[in-house]
Amino acid sequence: MLNIILFGPPGAGKGTQSEKLIAHYNLVHLSTGDIFRANIKGETELGQLAKSYMEKGQLVPDEVTIRMLESEVNKHSSAKGFIFDGFPRTQAQAEALDNLLKSKNTSISKMLALEVEEGELKKRLLLRGKDSGRADDQAPSVIQKRIDVYNNETAPVKDFYGKQNKYCGVNGIGEIDVIFNALCKTIDSI
Ligand code: AMP
Repeated sequence: MLNIILFGPPGAGKGTQSEKLIAHYNLVHLSTGDIFRANIKGETELGQLAKSYMEKGQLVPDEVTIRMLESEVNKHSSAKGFIFDGFPRTQAQAEALDNLLKSKNTSISKMLALEVEEGELKKRLLLRGKDSGRADDQAPSVIQKRIDVYNNETAPVKDFYGKQNKYCGVNGIGEIDVIFNALCKTIDSI
């Protein structure tokens, strides 16, 4: 199996590049943010809970997020592999993902991290807020909170995969296709 974590701060381009990667490598795309948003739209209990954290720019608690991710992985027993987008965001999530994949006799192939500096992220998120209407992309204070949460809670997850020699940083600024080709080059060298 080919199991890729597409990592990076909010606004780095994970969603855009995931769409292209799943088509190119025939993988299943699991975006925890997308799944939470679908639950909010469907007015489920999970959606209601997630919304209270998402609108403040905070992380949804690990226990809830991990349970949801595990059930999504289990829905795709014949997948050739996965792109994990927006997960794991904490050390506990990374450990849970490793254990889950191990129980299926597979593992993470690579963590690819899109690198984009903070000023550019803020510009992109505000633009996306206007275009998509995503609530958490509208208020500068919520955007700042999400970037701070990324720096404090999520960025350390790089070390978890770095220790396994699976971490690879990729420049996330430039044309979409140029970034996509750089990601493919790294994946093809696995
Ligand atoms: P995203 O679409 O990845 O930017 O995620 C939007 C929001 O969903 C985040 O700001 C969090 O509130 C929540 N979220 C998404 N993925 C996770 C995760 N792995 N752990 C905790 N919260 C998450």
